[in-house]
Amino acid sequence: NLSDKLDKAFHILKGHGKITEVNVAETLKEVRRALLDADVNFKIAKDFTTKVKEKAIGQDVLTTLQPGQLLVKLVKDELTELMGGDVAGINLSGNPTVILMSGLQGSGKTTFSGKLANYLLTKKNKKPLLVACDIYRPAAIQQLYVVGDSIGVEVYSEPENKNPVEIAQNAIKHAKANGFNVVIVDTAGRLAVDEEMMNEIERVHKAIQPQETLFVVDAMTGQDAVNTAKTFNDRLNFDGVILTKLDGDTRGGAAISIKTVVNKPIKFVGTGEKMDAIDVFYPIRMAERILGMGDVVSLVERAQEQFDEDEARKIQKKIAKNEFGFDDFLSQIQQVKKMGNMKDLVGMIPGASKAMKDVEIEDDAFKHIEAIIHSMTPIERSKPALIDVKRKARIAKGSGTKIEQVNQLMKQFDQMSKMMKMMQGPGGKNLMKMMGG
Ligand code: GDP
Ligand code: MG
Repeated sequence: NLSDKLDKAFHILKGHGKITEVNVAETLKEVRRALLDADVNFKIAKDFTTKVKEKAIGQDVLTTLQPGQLLVKLVKDELTELMGGDVAGINLSGNPTVILMSGLQGSGKTTFSGKLANYLLTKKNKKPLLVACDIYRPAAIQQLYVVGDSIGVEVYSEPENKNPVEIAQNAIKHAKANGFNVVIVDTAGRLAVDEEMMNEIERVHKAIQPQETLFVVDAMTGQDAVNTAKTFNDRLNFDGVILTKLDGDTRGGAAISIKTVVNKPIKFVGTGEKMDAIDVFYPIRMAERILGMGDVVSLVERAQEQFDEDEARKIQKKIAKNEFGFDDFLSQIQQVKKMGNMKDLVGMIPGASKAMKDVEIEDDAFKHIEAIIHSMTPIERSKPALIDVKRKARIAKGSGTKIEQVNQLMKQFDQMSKMMKMMQGPGGKNLMKMMGG
């Protein structure tokens, strides 16, 4: 799998102080292979690695970064850029805003229409109307009603009318007359690109002049997705791409290829069949996903949610006054524990899940640490410097641990205090803020 390969590739670089032609070549070959595996088009993958190589060679590796880490960063930044860099918003101008869905049958248009309606209703305070313009299959109209019902959004349809242009136009009139400010037009797709479908969507597009024409594509279709995107874009000059079915282990390499070939932003992704399985597309998160770097962002977000801000502020003050002690250490551990199961957390740290594969993670990985701290007297906790060999022996005995374990904890504590002291300095502010301080 992709992340295994990258782990291997980056391993080659470990221990070198500078990125050179030689040590980078092997790694980038793996990166290229990884991209191909993730369904990125061959030429795009090749151009990409060439570009990264040019940027990488000759760069000094900062003392704190391994060359591999630096290269990961370069690859990630470059990938992010390739996928559009920033988040592309959705254009909600116009009254009503008209949004047209396009794409092949089964790509997820109807499902996404519902998700988008739900998103606009609940997150953007809009009053959306869903419009059924898939006139070929009666079941398609029914499907949209089921979707609309489930999210409490009205559906407009004309079951007897076989002209999607008229239906769409009438729906917009209906929206204006009834106070809907967003109209989402769901259309018919075919299993493959065909002329009749293209003509029809083009006619609808011309007639209703949508603010947003969205091309919906199944992320699992890989290379085919690129050709389909190109055809639709040539005819509709669409405004954005929706990548569906990104749940499971779909790598999403199609995102890169499509963005490169049609140069239109990816706006949302679909990550499941339920109505809330919609996410704004973040290029950087997708870059991480493609590189198999673990869901670092989620980890940070979870940390942000869970860290008690007051606690963090209190601790910050103590560090500043050199008063950080084992009681604070203990409460930090408790904060970390609140973030969830250790196994889950480790799984979110890039590389760690593999490194820890064979290590049995105890349900409570902090059990020993807590026991040791609990065996310290209050004065020892607040003044760790007091803990000499004799005291260590007593603590080990009291906590049912070995003296080496106590030593190890003392060392960890020392490192952590130093690190936190450093975070107080310039540049460290953000890190503290990130942790909720
Ligand atoms: P349409 O023909 O383009 O309207 O596609 P549909 O919306 O009917 O979706 C086709 C199938 O894909 C349905 O079974 C959906 O439940 C499923 N589907 C749509 N979006 C997603 C998604 O993001 N993840 C998953 N797992 N399934 C999806
Ligand atoms: Mg449909």
